[in-house]
Amino acid sequence: MPQVDHVVVGAGINGLCTAFWLRQRGASRIVVCDRFGPGHDRGSSHGATRITRSSYDAPRFVAMAQVAHAECWPQLERAVGGSLRTPTPGLFFGPVDGPFAAYARATLGSGAAVEAIDVMTARRRFPLLRLHEGDGALLDHTAAVVLAAATMQRLAAWLSAADVALRWHEPVAAVRPVAGGVEVATATTTWHARSAVLALGPWTGSLAAADATGGPLVVQPQEVGYFAGDGLDGDAVAPGRFPVWARIGRTAEDFHYGLPAVDGSGVKIAVHRTTGDGVDPDAPLPAIAEAGLLELARERFAVAAPHLRRTERCLYTMARDHDLRVARAAEAPVVTIAACSGHAFKFGPLLGRMAADLALTR
Ligand SMILES: Cc1cc2nc3c(=O)[nH]c(=O)nc-3n(C[C@H](O)[C@H](O)[C@H](O)COP(=O)(O)OP(=O)(O)OC[C@H]3O[C@@H](n4cnc5c(N)ncnc54)[C@H](O)[C@@H]3O)c2cc1C
Repeated sequence: MPQVDHVVVGAGINGLCTAFWLRQRGASRIVVCDRFGPGHDRGSSHGATRITRSSYDAPRFVAMAQVAHAECWPQLERAVGGSLRTPTPGLFFGPVDGPFAAYARATLGSGAAVEAIDVMTARRRFPLLRLHEGDGALLDHTAAVVLAAATMQRLAAWLSAADVALRWHEPVAAVRPVAGGVEVATATTTWHARSAVLALGPWTGSLAAADATGGPLVVQPQEVGYFAGDGLDGDAVAPGRFPVWARIGRTAEDFHYGLPAVDGSGVKIAVHRTTGDGVDPDAPLPAIAEAGLLELARERFAVAAPHLRRTERCLYTMARDHDLRVARAAEAPVVTIAACSGHAFKFGPLLGRMAADLALTR
């Protein structure tokens, strides 16, 4: 049976970042397994872009964003040799007496470079976005577009160059604590390792112990649209001019967000779908509701005729309170990352560092 130091199961952002930090911390014999191939679109980490921000409705997430922005992303960028984020303003807005109020409470005064602005100022600054009378707005100077696809590619390249074994199309069937470590078994190989890190995203429930996830996880399908059209193209929608943004409505269902156009993709918009019965991550999904995306774009973009360029689907793994959890089993060297809820990409470099330190019992 091959002996290794660590096996990371799952090569999404959380798994790749864990392997990165294990290697940075001096571990050598590291294997990363993923059931699909590089760049696959079945989980949660694919797609060109993600939002990073400090504006949050809970002080712990504001604090985590500060650490991720100040420490973890810069260290990752230095290692892979270049920026993975494109700074652009962040605009987070909604009815001032609704859930938006919690964002203002948790973020303003936190030390993060975020300021409250009025609707008139927001409309002048971002004329392509529709705000309503009675909305509050936060202008987040720490926000950026995370180049998600580039991050995944450059991380994988860095890991391969650092002699980390990336085993694609290798689903892990079992993780068994044994004397002196843990056995990780696939159809072709069983490794004996000092530790295993489970970063399984929507499949967390398939291998992780129930008490490792901090409660039930529900997989929610997401539908994303990319739009263009008169007034919704060129520099007007480029990073630096066009914000990353989110409309924080009165209900969980009335929460949608968007990003500037990157590489001619069109501006991104989607509902942040956090409620519902959930889906089986392996089950086929119904056709994307393009009419719903078009209606959303018409509602939010102050242009005559946005047209849908392309769509994308993705999965959230929802935890109660949208919590992000990294935990080591009490009786075994198994670390579980149960962290998504539609907002963990920005925290990947921090969550990976936490998981690596728990695996190394630092
Ligand atoms: C549409 C959308 C928009 C988002 N926007 C943002 C945003 O703007 N900002 C932000 O911070 N976050 C955002 N997120 C959330 C963020 O992308 C996710 O939280 C993050 O990607 C989760 O990464 P992960 O590594 O935990 O999961 P995943 O990327 O799903 O990785 C899990 C991996 O485990 C593998 N796997 C599963 N089971 C096995 C097995 N048995 N053996 C081997 N491999 C296995 C899977 O193949 C998969 O590759 C968004 C998510 C979506 C879907």
